Amino acid sequence: MFDACGYGIEFGGFVMAICEVCENDYWMTFEVRTVGGDVHTFDSFECAAHKLAPICEHCQVKILGHGVEVSGRFFCCAHCARSKEGTEGAQVRDSVGARPS
Ligand SMILES: [Zn+2]
Ligand SMILES: [Zn+2]
Repeated sequence: MFDACGYGIEFGGFVMAICEVCENDYWMTFEVRTVGGDVHTFDSFECAAHKLAPICEHCQVKILGHGVEVSGRFFCCAHCARSKEGTEGAQVRDSVGARPS
């Protein structure tokens, strides 16, 4: 049984963790390891995105999909990359589709 004090001790052999964004103490938290080697703990993908998702330099939305990287800068889509970057950005397309140009 878990009451308010029971949480945070141990559950099935692993220590329960607290989401570092919203501080929810939840048994289904998960860890995300970044390229820098840092490990972050979250209770939801929403919190993970809030903390870790890059932000589009043009429109400031959180980039939750693949996004576009041009010269080390992140954009949510090809349109935003083209609007900020010069010749390199001009080459960016959203996808390699079969749609005729
Ligand atoms: Zn959270
Ligand atoms: Zn954007």
